Amino acid sequence: MMTGDYRAQQLELQLPHQIDDALTEKSIIYIPLGAIEYHGLHLPIGLDSLTSHGLCLRTAKQVGGLVMPPLYYGMTGSIGHHPWTILVEDEAEFNALIRTTLNRLEDFNVEQAVIFTGHFGRRQLAALDLLQEEWRMENHTMKLTCLSMNRCAEAELKGDHGALFETSLLAQLHPDLVQLDRLPDINQHPAADPDGDSWGIHRRDPDNVLFGILGDDPRAYDPLQGAKLLETLLDWLVSEVNSST
Ligand SMILES: [Zn+2]
Repeated sequence: MMTGDYRAQQLELQLPHQIDDALTEKSIIYIPLGAIEYHGLHLPIGLDSLTSHGLCLRTAKQVGGLVMPPLYYGMTGSIGHHPWTILVEDEAEFNALIRTTLNRLEDFNVEQAVIFTGHFGRRQLAALDLLQEEWRMENHTMKLTCLSMNRCAEAELKGDHGALFETSLLAQLHPDLVQLDRLPDINQHPAADPDGDSWGIHRRDPDNVLFGILGDDPRAYDPLQGAKLLETLLDWLVSEVNSST
């Protein structure tokens, strides 16, 4: 398992001279995005930001640059009514926060911003794709790269919601925040997925054993597979950032 101290990569902990030193070395600011969403009984509601922040910190340690505190507000999807889910409905609200951040970073002569989202609902991804396209057409001095957790083609697990992918990843980054024993015992209460569809509407039924979880049963969590997933995602993110500078 990867451990380590990433305080030197956290922008909010730096004094101005430390920021200058770090950005002279490598002028990249990472902006991790997430959401506040119910992810099942076994996971914290801030998961998407915890995973994007964790990966950005590890990438910054390898590549250089500093990581903004994660933005916990993400765009709505189909699960906006689930408990402890607070999502932004209006795309203009979301864009305004991101634009303000990017414009200020550009004022400080940052050479490159990397937005990395751990929340990959369709609307969030569409908003980010459009932002990247617009930013490039506007001829800014600061480069912008937008990347999403679910777009790593090499990952052996597919991006999901509170299921095997997200559970495995968070278990690697923050083992203390994953409590699989909060879910019913898998032998007594196996997943009941019509036609084997683990993304179906039945998972939005509060009486379903895997309510609020979309994707493969997280009770199949395997630490070795989790470690491999983290390694694959990190290698991918490092290479994406390196190739975009
Ligand atoms: Zn999530």
